[in-house]
Amino acid sequence: MERKIFIFDSTLRDGAQAESISYSVEDKWKIVQALDKLGVSYIEAGNPGSNPKDLEFFNQIKTHQLKHAKITAFGSTRRKGMKVEDDANNQLLLDTDTPVVTIVGKSWDLHVKDVINTSLDENLDMIGETVAFFKNKGKEVIFDAEHFFDGFKSNPTHAFDSLQAAADGGADWLILCETNGGSFPGEVFEITKNVINKFSLPVGIHCHNDCGMAVANSIMAVEAGATQVQGTLIGFGERCGNANLSTIIPNLQLKKDYECITDDQLIKLTSTARMVAEVSNIPLDNHLPYVGKSAFAHKGGMHVDGVIKVPRSFEHVKPDEIGNGRRFLMSEVSGRSTILEKIQKVSPELKKNSKQTQSIIDLLKKSEHEGYQFEGAECSFELMIRKHLGKYQPFFQLESFTIISEQSLLNGNSSSSAVIKVNVDGEEEFTAAEGNGPVNALDRALRKALEVFYPELKDVHLTDFKVRVLNPKKATAAKVRVLIESTDGKDIWTTVGVSTDILQASCIALVDSIEYKLLKNIEKKFKIFA
Ligand SMILES: [Zn+2]
Repeated sequence: MERKIFIFDSTLRDGAQAESISYSVEDKWKIVQALDKLGVSYIEAGNPGSNPKDLEFFNQIKTHQLKHAKITAFGSTRRKGMKVEDDANNQLLLDTDTPVVTIVGKSWDLHVKDVINTSLDENLDMIGETVAFFKNKGKEVIFDAEHFFDGFKSNPTHAFDSLQAAADGGADWLILCETNGGSFPGEVFEITKNVINKFSLPVGIHCHNDCGMAVANSIMAVEAGATQVQGTLIGFGERCGNANLSTIIPNLQLKKDYECITDDQLIKLTSTARMVAEVSNIPLDNHLPYVGKSAFAHKGGMHVDGVIKVPRSFEHVKPDEIGNGRRFLMSEVSGRSTILEKIQKVSPELKKNSKQTQSIIDLLKKSEHEGYQFEGAECSFELMIRKHLGKYQPFFQLESFTIISEQSLLNGNSSSSAVIKVNVDGEEEFTAAEGNGPVNALDRALRKALEVFYPELKDVHLTDFKVRVLNPKKATAAKVRVLIESTDGKDIWTTVGVSTDILQASCIALVDSIEYKLLKNIEKKFKIFA
């Protein structure tokens, strides 16, 4: 029997505490919509007491109807020695007008005595009165018991009393917070079980990742009976981050038979994770479980051969269940089956012994000899196969480019501009653009020229740029290999270029990146009409 687990995403509140993250109101709205489509139960959208910008956001989203998620605002219990209604932060929290509020309160005696400097009894009053205040206003109240696990280890009576105070105030949920991230899975299981045995209210878990165990701890709490999991979609958060929901959701759903979201929503997991990374302006770790670009990437020849024969021989779940894809990496160790798999993607009729298969293998060897390496840049290899087999219709021709770089020796500033000439179906286009470096200027100019013909390129931008100087002892002396990673907010792809000139190599990789995006769009359209 599947048990429903309520997913609570705090990317916009706890996640926004992470170093180098700052969301505009538009960013927040994009993330709220994506999380709602993914089907999470709660979206914690901000803390009006600490950030006045959040109040503006709550005002804006009030008028929008969400399909799945309830919006919640975050705030603390009233301050010591005052009434709830006199505390300005509680008033701000009320002003957000959300159907749900999350109230954080102290449950570790150390914090009560040495941080907020009050008595244990006053702490319990602060919790009870604040929860009751918001219940009387008709809110669903989620009580976050801050540092609950440390509190339990230090003074279990007070830790339990803090939960009891929230329960007496009418709380709908008791959330056990592993705020310092220092507990181990076994402890989290035992302590959560203890709480579940004592309280009839639903219990949730909120973990931080300081010991690298936030996911494991969250899962153990669920196994002990917790029915709400708080975290952030891709693990953003202060210090080492919060529990990563993009790992927890499929773990619970695909391995443990709990239901967090529907199976159809689960398919959106990878694209939602990438979109949140994109809006947050933080590259998604390629090796992230389930949703990372390398999560189902196979390299060794035997592994590839195994996956082709029986996918589960080297894959713990099916990549399409979470909307990710399988990738076969090109490398010296990958055998013919990897190459054949790539060729058959373009021309399914070709076999291992076909003449054309052999000629592509020869071409690959020649390119590798010139310094190309397609590992991680399978898109360039796919384009090469298409061009070789005559299955490619050029979208444009880059006829020439000029780069002007200016270095100021007075203030150390530098700027670059690129002038390019492209030809699309006989129509020539001259474009110039500036950038903070020659490659950036070239990329901008190229896309600016082509956006006139292909507006879908507006969503594309570079996320990574790597240059490798090739081994000077080999035949590839003085050559550089450039790898470019691009995204359109949904997919990520990598292309490669090799030349003795770094700009030329960058240009080859850039052109491949744009060609690949245009090709991808055509294929999508074709699928719709097929
Ligand atoms: Zn937290």
